Amino acid sequence: MAEEIKEEIKEKENKKTKKKNRKKEKSFKKIKRNRSWVSILVFLIALLIIGVLGYAFVEVFFQYAVETKATAEYNTIKYMARVYDTYGDGEETYSLLNKEGRDYFIKDKAGNIIYQNGENTASKEGEVVYLDDELKGVIAYTDINTSYITISDGSLEFKYKDLIKNIEYDDNEGFHVGDKVIDNDKIKEYNDKLDELDKYDGDPSSIVYENGNVRVDIDYYGENVSELNEIVTTDIPLWLSVDLSDGNTLVAKATVKINIKDIALFGVLLAVVLAVVVIVFFIVVGNVIGGFIRQRRITNFFFTDQVTKGRNWMWFKEKGGQLLKKKRNAKNKYAIVNLVFVKYRTFCMCHSIEEGEEKLCKIHDWVAASLEKKELIAHTTNSNFALLLKYTDADELDERIKKLIKELEQIDTEHKFAFQVGVNKIDTSKDSDGRFIKRKDIDVEKEYNNACTARAKFEGSEDSGIAYFDEKLVEEQKWIDMVQEKQQQALDNEEFMVYYQPKYDPRTNELRGVEALIRWQSPEYGFVSPGRIIPIFEKNGFITEIDHYMISHVAKDQKAWLDKGYKCVPVSVNVSRAHFIESDLAEQIRDMVDKEGAPHELVEIELTESAFFDDKNAMINTIERLKSYGFAVSMDDFGSGYSSLNSLKDMPLDVLKLDAEFFRGENSGERGEIVVTEAIKLAKSLNMRTVAEGVEIKEQVDFLAQQGCDMIQGYYFAKPMPKDEYESRMKN
Ligand code: C2E
Ligand code: MG
Ligand code: MG
Repeated sequence: MAEEIKEEIKEKENKKTKKKNRKKEKSFKKIKRNRSWVSILVFLIALLIIGVLGYAFVEVFFQYAVETKATAEYNTIKYMARVYDTYGDGEETYSLLNKEGRDYFIKDKAGNIIYQNGENTASKEGEVVYLDDELKGVIAYTDINTSYITISDGSLEFKYKDLIKNIEYDDNEGFHVGDKVIDNDKIKEYNDKLDELDKYDGDPSSIVYENGNVRVDIDYYGENVSELNEIVTTDIPLWLSVDLSDGNTLVAKATVKINIKDIALFGVLLAVVLAVVVIVFFIVVGNVIGGFIRQRRITNFFFTDQVTKGRNWMWFKEKGGQLLKKKRNAKNKYAIVNLVFVKYRTFCMCHSIEEGEEKLCKIHDWVAASLEKKELIAHTTNSNFALLLKYTDADELDERIKKLIKELEQIDTEHKFAFQVGVNKIDTSKDSDGRFIKRKDIDVEKEYNNACTARAKFEGSEDSGIAYFDEKLVEEQKWIDMVQEKQQQALDNEEFMVYYQPKYDPRTNELRGVEALIRWQSPEYGFVSPGRIIPIFEKNGFITEIDHYMISHVAKDQKAWLDKGYKCVPVSVNVSRAHFIESDLAEQIRDMVDKEGAPHELVEIELTESAFFDDKNAMINTIERLKSYGFAVSMDDFGSGYSSLNSLKDMPLDVLKLDAEFFRGENSGERGEIVVTEAIKLAKSLNMRTVAEGVEIKEQVDFLAQQGCDMIQGYYFAKPMPKDEYESRMKN
């Protein structure tokens, strides 16, 4: 009963964990479809908008700063052109124009300069500018000496466009451009430029070369830097051309003065734009990083096993899949392993769940520590662990797992634990030409299930062991699943048949008894022998239903035969261990037989050796009660196990059935005969009748008759047969 409850709990737990896992998997998939790309998209859109706005802003600024100012200059140049057009080419005109105080030159159609005032620093190549309506199509020339002046802390940085490009410095020659040393005039030029800043009256004390820049260091007599900043002016000289009525062209220098107010305005606006960009950038980056961190955290949560704090099944599936599918891992051999801590449930029952979980942690950590790079472990369900191991040689792998089991068995000083391992080997992955190819279709879940299938071989056993998976196991597992699915339906439809195998007296050849054996007449699978179903029913507990079914049918048949007036012999029915554990088994059998109205002495109960369980007193009690109700009890398959003699000593049994193994192959020799002889003698002295099973040849029958064996059940006399056939045999 306790076993049954345990099984039930286990079943329920398994279902629950599976359901939970499915749920988790679903929500994990949802999270995996992360939306960080949305943030990135938003950022890109924001960047685009800011870019467009920035561009528009710069445009507007230049319109204001350059166009309006350049237009003002252009208008005065146009005025000079009108003067020229009015008075024509000539000295008087030029002296009038010179009064404007502007550098200019007049060139003829061929481009030759026919008059020049001041210095001509216009660059050679002009370009057509479209600044605003006024300046549309005007040819403008940049100034070769365009200068930018900025003041920074304690020094004045003076970038002289052309010079900066070419100026070099070395300790011997000082400043030079190419091999031309910069002469004092140039230095003076700098000074003059600085003098233009009229508020400032110091001279550059030195021109220094530092970090690739030429810098003019100046004395500024304790002037406040912020005040210095105020006087900054940037000149942007631009040479503008105006066509003259005689075909010549006037090109005059227009100086677009952009003062600190403009720059400040530009600076503030630029700073605002930049600030917005930076803020948006940080928000988006923060969002994206936050998203990733969140996702990592959630992923971690989803992948963490709450018991061992290691990884869980979902992680194993994901990570294992990635690992196995990698092209470069195609050349590696892997083993997917199902490791089970065998008596976990019992341990929890005897101690506590907390202690049980502590052991699971210990096991997990131990195995994890033994793993190599790119090997995995996860706690999957209850006491199951999934492992992914790499191996090169199958024997080495076997040794490694054996060693691991041995270590784990001793992981606790107070208890000796057992571990069962199912191994599914995954070979290297090659194509037909022997080239390594990706295992692109590998399904970790399926492979792990195969490892579990291999491990399931130990179901019911409590000892350690390793089992390897092969395809036959899948078929076996499919069969088991099918049987379990169909069992109840088969029982309800009476697809299970009772076959009878008679037992004969070897001296008189008289029918003395019969054994009822089950057969399954499946509409889909045909005739199925008990060997293919009984072990399954024994494991899943359905055997008790089967035993009831058989006892009821046997009792019913006996009653019917009696009513027909046949000379009936006792029918033995097999009762399994799972059933025998029930404390009221004797009463159950009695009631079932009584219900059909068959006399108790015509029903015998067969117990296999394996049915003898730990609680000897309870067993003896059940046997005695069965006997007290008039049922004979026999020990089936005597000699097939190890504790036969022991059981014989204690159990008040009526019949000893010698196992068929005694009469098969090597056992049937002289030594086998001695054992059989002694066993019969032993049974006699214990007042038990003997039945020899599996006897197929005449010599064996003669020998057994000689030794005083009471009955023979074997193919020599008869195979198990359907009810009708047995009935007609009884008649004769
Ligand atoms: P068992 O109770 O020891 O039954 C004897 C088995 O030996 C039967 O196999 C029978 O057909 C076979 N046998 C008998 N004489 C010979 C022979 O001369 N040569 C050979 N090769 N075999 C012989 P079966 O019917 O396949 O049953 C196998 C086992 O299944 C049974 O062993 C019994 O342990 C179990 N079983 C069968 N029916 C039932 C049932 O209704 N309830 C339970 N609990 N177990 C059953
Ligand atoms: Mg039997
Ligand atoms: Mg037997």
